[in-house]
Amino acid sequence: MSETIFDRIIKREIPADIVYEDDQCLAFRDINPQAPVHILVIPLKNIATVNDLTAADEQTVGHLYTVAARIAKEEGIAEDGYRTVMNCNDHGGQSVYHIHLHLIGGKALGWPPY
Ligand code: 5GP
Repeated sequence: MSETIFDRIIKREIPADIVYEDDQCLAFRDINPQAPVHILVIPLKNIATVNDLTAADEQTVGHLYTVAARIAKEEGIAEDGYRTVMNCNDHGGQSVYHIHLHLIGGKALGWPPY
């Protein structure tokens, strides 16, 4: 598995505005936010894309969602609502090949996303 910029954030080799961490995941503010709140929740384990998930990752991916829900409450966006999305590969708009759950909110978001 090739190293990505997110592995370097996990290792604290490059700075990030970290809002949550535990023994399975790390959450930090996106460097190029698309909304007032834009946080990335990533597993410490480097899984390149959603295509690479196996049954062994189900607990990890579920954990990303419960952490995102917790952060949404802390950020004050839970009641109004927000979006969680994991982009996959080129057509999905993925640019960093270490899976990450985008938590986006703080304003009304458009849909569909094109
Ligand atoms: P993707 O396009 O792969 O779904 O999302 C990758 C996200 O990572 C983008 O929203 C991008 O702004 C963010 N990003 C890329 N490099 C960095 C970085 O070095 N630090 C932080 N905090 N976010 C980054």
